[in-house]
Amino acid sequence: MNVTARTRVMTLLGDPVAHSGSPELQNAAFRAAGVDGVYVAVRCGSEDLDGFVRGLARAGGGGNVTLPHKEKAASILDVRSAAVRRTGACNTFWGDADGKVHGDNTDVEGFRRALRVFLDDSPQGVRPLLLGAGGAARAALVGLLDEGVDTVFLHNRTLERARAVARRIGGSKVRIVPTLRDVEGEDFDLVINATRLGLDPGDPPPLVLRRLNRVGAAMDMVYGSHTTAFVRSAEEAGVRATDGLEMLVQQGAVSFERWWGREAPVDRMREAVGARRSD
Ligand code: NAP
Repeated sequence: MNVTARTRVMTLLGDPVAHSGSPELQNAAFRAAGVDGVYVAVRCGSEDLDGFVRGLARAGGGGNVTLPHKEKAASILDVRSAAVRRTGACNTFWGDADGKVHGDNTDVEGFRRALRVFLDDSPQGVRPLLLGAGGAARAALVGLLDEGVDTVFLHNRTLERARAVARRIGGSKVRIVPTLRDVEGEDFDLVINATRLGLDPGDPPPLVLRRLNRVGAAMDMVYGSHTTAFVRSAEEAGVRATDGLEMLVQQGAVSFERWWGREAPVDRMREAVGARRSD
């Protein structure tokens, strides 16, 4: 990679950022596609976000935003995509020739693409149980509804947060599950973990899958260099499972498309994040 005075600077803004796979993912993609960009992670506090986002976008760069700034980033933008408006969160920004700051939430499309890869089909007609009510869960909920899923069962540790997500996004298409005991013995085609449980290798799984009657498949949005607790517990229960690495690749591919206006080298990106696995 030949970095010059014309190279576009793309950043990951968040706190923490040291664990992120995005720099390997995007720099591998930039090299494979031969675009003149460099991607770096910058640990950034909330008070500095506005300056970074506007300054970088106006300088012809852009980037991603991660925890805990996705909601704040949505409020900074001049032009918001439909995914930003619906989820209230932005994970990708860039500038245009008029100096306007554009933003998207590529977690929505990234989730949809990763789910299709996992199921090898559209999830239309499936009965999913979604765990969580943060940014990841909101992206998954929009993605599931856009794929034509009729009803999403939603559980979150803090019940009021799940209710707020349902009010904002799904309305009557979301069935709130107040406690996991309420779904014991039930069948789900798909269980999705969108909580942060599993980030730490010592975390327990977000639910005991054996307490459900039948689970078709388990998708974890969490990823790491280790097998996540949810994927491990699903495999022990004989349930087909995947972690969040494919979604990381797919949301990154959509970000790449927004910045460069061309298709992303997805296979090369998959190879780059695959190299992070230690087990
Ligand atoms: P967030 O907004 O902070 O939400 C965290 C969620 O986890 C909330 O629902 C929270 O429940 C729940 N939670 C936290 N600790 C818990 C515990 N001990 N027991 C049960 N639930 C607990 O985070 P986020 O942005 O949604 O991210 C969630 C995860 O998804 C992270 O691990 C992130 O890395 C991952 N993610 C992956 C991708 C990808 O590309 N693969 C993309 C986006 C996010 P309460 O509401 O009760 O606090």
